[in-house]
Amino acid sequence: FQSKLPGVGTTIFTIMSQLATEHKAINLGQGFPDFNPAAALLSEVNRAMQEGHNQYPPMAGIPALRQGISAKTQALYGHYYDPDTEVTVTSGASEALMASILAFVKPGDEVLVIEPFYDLYIPAIQLAGGTPVIVAMLPPTEQTPLYRVDWQHVRDAITPATSMLIINFPHNPTGINLQESDLDWLERIVDETGIMLLSDEVYEHIIFDGQQHQSLARRESIAANAIVISSFGKTYHTTGWKVGYCCAPKHISAEMRKVHQFMVFTVSSPMQVALAHYMKDPKPYMELSDFYQEKRDRLARGLAKTRFVPMPSQGTFFLLADYSAISDLPEAEFARWLTTTHGVGVIPISAFYRQPDAKESNHQLVRFCFAKQDHTLDAALAKLAIV
Ligand code: PMP
Ligand code: GLN
Repeated sequence: FQSKLPGVGTTIFTIMSQLATEHKAINLGQGFPDFNPAAALLSEVNRAMQEGHNQYPPMAGIPALRQGISAKTQALYGHYYDPDTEVTVTSGASEALMASILAFVKPGDEVLVIEPFYDLYIPAIQLAGGTPVIVAMLPPTEQTPLYRVDWQHVRDAITPATSMLIINFPHNPTGINLQESDLDWLERIVDETGIMLLSDEVYEHIIFDGQQHQSLARRESIAANAIVISSFGKTYHTTGWKVGYCCAPKHISAEMRKVHQFMVFTVSSPMQVALAHYMKDPKPYMELSDFYQEKRDRLARGLAKTRFVPMPSQGTFFLLADYSAISDLPEAEFARWLTTTHGVGVIPISAFYRQPDAKESNHQLVRFCFAKQDHTLDAALAKLAIV
C-alpha cells in the first residue's frame, strides 16, 4: 500500500517526553500540568459514576454540558450558540479539529495555515485530500520582540480554491494573542472572500497582563463563518481526559457532527456530567490567567539569570527562549542535547514548521512549558543555570 501520510512520524511531543523519561530529565517539553485538577472536580467524576452515568451519552454531548458551554461563551464573548444544534462536545480539541477538517475540506481545496503551527493541522488537511498553503508569521526582531501575523499576506494567499483558514490564538508555540485590530482584519477577510475560519482557541483562558481573549465569537459577522474550538484539558488541568468542544452555526455544526458521529460517536459520560456541574462556577477559569501568569514570571525571571533569553509570552502555558548565547546547534539537536546532558526537556520550535530541518525554520529558539509546580520549575532552573 501507499502511505496516506508519508511525511508523518511520531509527534515531537511524544518523542521529547520519551527522551525526558529515558534520561530522567525534568519535562518542560510536552504541554501538560504536573499537578492534579481541583479536588471538587475529581469528586464530581466519582459522583457521576456512582450515580450511574456510565453508558452512552447523546451523540453531541449531554445537554447540561452543551448548555453550560453556550452560556459561558455568550457571557464572555457575546455570541449565542444554540446548545441543541450549535455546540458539540468532542474528544478533546483534537477530534473537533480533525472532524471539522474532514467535514469541510475536499480534494483539491487549499487550506491556509499560519506557520509556526500546531502539528495536527497539516496531516488532517492531507487526509481530507486538501493542499496546505503556508503563510509564515513575521519572526521577532529587536524592534518587535514578538512573532506577528501579516494579515495582508494571509489575504493575498486566498485564491478561489481556498476553502478554509486555520488560526490558533493564544498561539502555540509563540504565545501571541489576537488583538482587536486582528479581528478587524479577519472581519474584512471574511467579508471579501466568504472563507470559513477554523479557530483553535484551546488556550482562551490563559492570557496575561490584563489582555482579553479575542474569540471569533466576539464578532457576529465572523462567527457566522467560523468554527470555534476549545478544550477542557487546558482549562481544568485535565489534558488526559480528552474532552473539548466545538461551536459553530447550525448548518456547519450539522456537517461536523456527521463526522463526529462516526469517528467517536460520543465522549465519556461521567466526565461530561462532572464538567457540566463544575463549570457552573466561573471562578476556576476566571482565575486561571493569574495562576499561570505567576508561573510564567517565575520561569522568565529564572531564565533571565541564565544564558537563555526568554521571549515575552502573552498567553498559553508556553514561553520561548533564545539559546544563541549557548550553542550553534539547530533546534532539534539542541533540545535533544539539553534533555540528555542537562536533564531539562524542551520542544524545538522548528517542529512547528513545514520543513523542520531547513535553515529558515531554525531560529535558535526552544519552547518551555510552565504548567508545572513551582518546585519543578525551580529544579529545572537550577539545572539551566549551569548550561
Ligand atoms: N490545539 C493546540 C494548539 C494544542 O496545543 C493542543 C494540545 N495540546 C490541542 C489543540 C489539542 O487539545 P486536546 O488535548 O484537547 O485534544
Ligand atoms: N499540545 C501539546 C503541546 O503543544 C501536546 C499534545 C500532544 O502531545 N499531542 O505540547
